[in-house]
Amino acid sequence: MTREELTDLFYNAPTEELTARAGEVCRRVHGPEVLLRGLVEYSNYCPCGCLYCGIRGGNSRVNRYRLTDGEVLASVDAGYERGLRTFVLQGGEDRKFDTDRIARLIGMIKERTKNEAAVTLSCGMKSREEFRTLRDAGGDRYLLRFETSDPELHRYLRDGKTLAERLENLEWIREAGFQRGSGYMTGLPGETDEIRLNNILLCRDLELDMVGIGPFIPHPDTPLGGAEQQGLDHALRGTALLRLALPEAHIPATTAAGSLEPDGREQMIRGGANVLMPNLTGVEYKKDYLLYPGKICLDESGVQCIGCLSMRVKTVDRRLSFARGDAPRLVGAAV
Ligand code: SAH
Ligand code: SF4
Repeated sequence: MTREELTDLFYNAPTEELTARAGEVCRRVHGPEVLLRGLVEYSNYCPCGCLYCGIRGGNSRVNRYRLTDGEVLASVDAGYERGLRTFVLQGGEDRKFDTDRIARLIGMIKERTKNEAAVTLSCGMKSREEFRTLRDAGGDRYLLRFETSDPELHRYLRDGKTLAERLENLEWIREAGFQRGSGYMTGLPGETDEIRLNNILLCRDLELDMVGIGPFIPHPDTPLGGAEQQGLDHALRGTALLRLALPEAHIPATTAAGSLEPDGREQMIRGGANVLMPNLTGVEYKKDYLLYPGKICLDESGVQCIGCLSMRVKTVDRRLSFARGDAPRLVGAAV
């Protein structure tokens, strides 16, 4: 879809029409299946100061943890036994959980899953060489949201880090040969309609393989704690427009959407999302990985979550898929 068509829909189409159109495109391209990705939140140490984030270095109230290799692998094993074939390693930019350690972990995950499972990384910003190292170690996909496409707002919210640096990282991710994911938060303070539209257009221009968006949820122990909570509508419209812009992309119904509204993830699936991410992090740690308050599924294991998700997707006429779910451009699926 062209930039002009997307712009017209962004300003003029009612949400119901957008979600219905996007839902149809999603079904035509991806079928009735919703792909599962098992998430492991390996560390909540982070030296960065992103204003929106509950585990930012400046928040002294966080109970910090770092998983051992054995704990990461135990979470992966539990997911693998239950049938999962993609694992996402996510964490703060913990200097002690460095690139070499992540590279070693990728090797161990590949070995114990007999090379069947894909490994996705969501480990923040890296150097060009580090991205190469992680790819050479067998990493398949890398997620790095640009957070907001507005350069000024980006610099403010990310404590001086620039959008240009983030986009350069995304270029290195592509160059290293990863399937590339990005995205943004909706409803950030200072966000205008123009910024919201540009977020969508930037995802389109980047030709992303994966796009994750979710509502910003203010965390009380951050500088944005007093910001106003916006509704789910921006995320729903964004998801639908992204599906129309990038029919082949894998788009998750994010946990933040499910945390803001009880059926937030189902609404996103109905309107174009085709991925869910059960959280495999041990229950003793999950509660300390609070990027935002009110996060759901803190008391259940990720494996228990799969049962719940299976029932949830039925309500929107979908079923779960345990496939690896690589980018269609790599598996040559016809659209
Ligand atoms: N450190 C890595 C990965 C962890 S943060 C990184 O920053 O890329 C993962 C994502 O959580 C971020 O990209 C951001 O979009 C989201 N996030 C952080 N704080 C949030 C909040 N208060 N509400 C909603 N999403 C948030
Ligand atoms: Fe660290 Fe990521 Fe949170 Fe920023 S968003 S403070 S990089 S964990």
